[in-house]
Amino acid sequence: MVDSVQSFLGGRWISGRDGPALHDAAHGQVVAQMVLGDIDPAQVLAYARGQGRRGLLAVGFPERAAMLRALARYLGEHKEGLYRLSLHTGATRADGQIDIDGGIGTLAAYASMGAAELPAGNLWPEGPVVSLSRKGGFAGTHVLTPRAGVAVQINAFNFPVWGMLEKFAPAFLAGMPSLVKPATQTSYLAAACVRLIVDSGLLPDGALQLLVGPVGDLLGHLQSQDMLAFTGSADTAASLRAHPALLAAGVPINVEADSLNAAVLSDDIGPDHPLFDRFVTEVVREMTVKAGQKCTAIRRILVPRCSLDALGERLAARLAQVRLGDPARDDVDMGPLVSARQAQDVRSVIARLAETGELLGATGGPPALCGDDLDPAAFVAPTLLLARECDPGARVHVLEAFGPVASLLPYDDPDEAIALVNAGQGSLVTTVAVGRPDRAAHWVQGLAPWHGRLHLLDATAADESTGHGSPLPALKHGGPGRAGGGEELGGLRAVAHHLQRTALQGSPAMLMAATGEYVRGAPVTEQAVHPFRKHYDELQVGDSLLTHRRTVSEADIVNFGCLSGDFSTCTSTSSRRANRRSASASPMATSCCRPPRAFSCRRRPGRCWPITGWTRCAS
Ligand code: NAP
Repeated sequence: MVDSVQSFLGGRWISGRDGPALHDAAHGQVVAQMVLGDIDPAQVLAYARGQGRRGLLAVGFPERAAMLRALARYLGEHKEGLYRLSLHTGATRADGQIDIDGGIGTLAAYASMGAAELPAGNLWPEGPVVSLSRKGGFAGTHVLTPRAGVAVQINAFNFPVWGMLEKFAPAFLAGMPSLVKPATQTSYLAAACVRLIVDSGLLPDGALQLLVGPVGDLLGHLQSQDMLAFTGSADTAASLRAHPALLAAGVPINVEADSLNAAVLSDDIGPDHPLFDRFVTEVVREMTVKAGQKCTAIRRILVPRCSLDALGERLAARLAQVRLGDPARDDVDMGPLVSARQAQDVRSVIARLAETGELLGATGGPPALCGDDLDPAAFVAPTLLLARECDPGARVHVLEAFGPVASLLPYDDPDEAIALVNAGQGSLVTTVAVGRPDRAAHWVQGLAPWHGRLHLLDATAADESTGHGSPLPALKHGGPGRAGGGEELGGLRAVAHHLQRTALQGSPAMLMAATGEYVRGAPVTEQAVHPFRKHYDELQVGDSLLTHRRTVSEADIVNFGCLSGDFSTCTSTSSRRANRRSASASPMATSCCRPPRAFSCRRRPGRCWPITGWTRCAS
């Protein structure tokens, strides 16, 4: 059956004329038909800025986090249809898992972060409050609020689900409506995911729109509160950055582009070291998962010259065992590239790399395939090249084959290797397989300025590492320079990118009212009831308790130490004895003689109250 790929704009699926037909990567048959409608970009954006934003901001961060959680659950229950479509992109079941479950997992991760760490409402006090006057009547702080525009998200073909959801989740949590433009080649999978989201009925109207096909003059209608997130080639990124309307309006652009990621075998790891084979496994996996069509895939392998032959042989042997064919088959390790055109591009880059290097093992030519009725045009065998002599100006540091291709580069000295890796002019990620901590520190010092992520693979991490190629919701994804200079994920940093940071100045009372957090010097409400005795919902910011004067004695300190497990201020002999007797331990408490002036609930920073009595007693 051929799916229709339609845009979802203004709250409805758009019908129109037939656009390009989209083909199954492995067999070549038509699997989807683009439907291109006449759209009015100004109207689409206005719908997001109006209806979409209203719906999103009708609730606060925690409620949106709950919606993301429900959506993740819903997609998890309905993902099988997505897997079926994912096969057409050339992805095996395991590849599809990275895309589909990875995307759903990212939604769930942002749901958890939003619930645990973001305040109620739509204003995120960033703090700290700093006093700006002698008498304490004027202070300042920073607050973050949702940008009053649309987040336009243009995605690459290789991760139609994950690529979409990892941009959508932080924008949604922040309170910005998203307009998603998937890459045409795999848009049927992204559109199917959006259809599930729409059918779930879990999101406010206008929170998510989908535009398939060309964007027309959409970007010309972007305004200063909008933002653009792009994943794709450096060439397209360059043209978007230079768009006159974006420049004129100062629209922020986040770019994730090409990256010539590296894997380095440290000079303290020889062929007999247990990490050596683990390194081989990591490289083979990165070359073959998604047939190497991953932004994080390893393209350059740096190896001490003395280990070059051993590594080359083991890699070539492992790559020769990779079974290519129909991605629907369980006995197939690697499917085709997304299209014959993509495979052609990869072959031409292999040919250019081979002019200055040697081919080891497979040739990049037509491989043997498992399966029936396959169209070989989109298949490229894993291809390993060797550049025996390589300087930072070599083309291997510039040419990206977006497929199962990597080059071995020998080095004589670690600093030479650092220079070669950095010749990629900025990468998403490099893995260093390293044994000694002091060697790891050296690699990090040399590589970090040129990387968005460094993955140190030592014997302890080897069993549990999530791997070179996995961007994680909690950690930043994006690299400097050639990799686009963008920053996605990284926990709540990605949410903050969709919020405007504003410095806020005023009296403590005004700052407290605006931020919902107690500010020193703001009026307090003196009460007879201890705030700790109140029900959570009865507490108000500024609730205060003044107790009678009391001298804090050494016994108090010792008791506090015994209770909290923090004995750092208990210095007397008796205290030390008490310490040894104590069985309780709490890593949280840091000081027992200086109680905090105001207790603040991290989960709901809006709910904070000063315990003024403690402060006065202690002074
Ligand atoms: P691409 O040709 O640059 O396309 C990327 C996206 O941009 C597609 O959605 C494409 O839509 C759209 N697009 C193209 N021209 C446009 C224009 N003038 N205005 C607005 N949108 C436009 O890249 P690709 O071939 O899909 O992806 C492969 C490249 O992406 C590789 O080089 C890879 O390194 C890079 N990539 C990087 C990352 C990362 O996270 N850093 C991740 C994945 C891929 P159409 O498909 O409709 O043309």
